[in-house]
Amino acid sequence: MDTSAVSLVFFTSGLIVGSFLNVLVYRLKDAETLLGRSFCRHCEHQIRWYDNIPLLSFILLRGACRDCDKRISWQYPLLELVTGLLFMLTGQYFFSVLDSVSWLTTGWLLFTLSCLVVIGAYDLRHMEIPISMLIISAFLTYLFLGAHFLLVSEPFFGSRLWYGLLGGMVVCGFFFLLVWMSKETWMGWGDVWLGFVAGSVVGLHLILPMLTLSFGLGALVGVFAILYQQKNLKSQLPFAPFLVAGMILTIFLPEAFPWLFQYLAV
Ligand SMILES: [Zn+2]
Repeated sequence: MDTSAVSLVFFTSGLIVGSFLNVLVYRLKDAETLLGRSFCRHCEHQIRWYDNIPLLSFILLRGACRDCDKRISWQYPLLELVTGLLFMLTGQYFFSVLDSVSWLTTGWLLFTLSCLVVIGAYDLRHMEIPISMLIISAFLTYLFLGAHFLLVSEPFFGSRLWYGLLGGMVVCGFFFLLVWMSKETWMGWGDVWLGFVAGSVVGLHLILPMLTLSFGLGALVGVFAILYQQKNLKSQLPFAPFLVAGMILTIFLPEAFPWLFQYLAV
């Protein structure tokens, strides 16, 4: 397969996974069944299969329900598109058919990125981090780091596993201090655990760029929100979406622009 075919397969799979992640963002909250057919949030009509095609149906329906004409949330097409693009980038930068370690890395990244997308969108919608997604992403990350360590046979104290452990503990410890000192006004306990996952995923050598990007994006959006009077200084912005964005940028930027991160390489 040539690279554009690989990209297309990854992108399409991402769109399909993305539409399932949308279901998770809505249904995890009320412990609704994850299987059953989708229905309109307004009129509760079941959604026909041909109106449930990722991205395409939203465009064809012009963003409104076929039965009641009410608006369909922008979250649906946006999350599908983001997941599609993340899958495509993973395929582009991490996957190579003949390299078995790249299969492992790709599988881990696709699952972890999916969990991250749900965590970010869920926190935006419900102001809380779904614990199930935290547990799954932490478990998968250490499963991957362990398997990677066994497969590439590198010395433990220079391994990805070791840097992952250190990174996880440093970010978790730092966030713990922030939550404790601010009495949960700067961020919440869920962010402390997400910090552990984040540090473990990117590894100790990349936590500084990740935190800079996350806090930078948060500050930027915070300033705009205040300027446009969406929020006052006291109202809270959820932090998880920014940490998720910072993580995702830190996963892909070093692959896309190696020169940018060269000096950080361990
Ligand atoms: Zn409807």
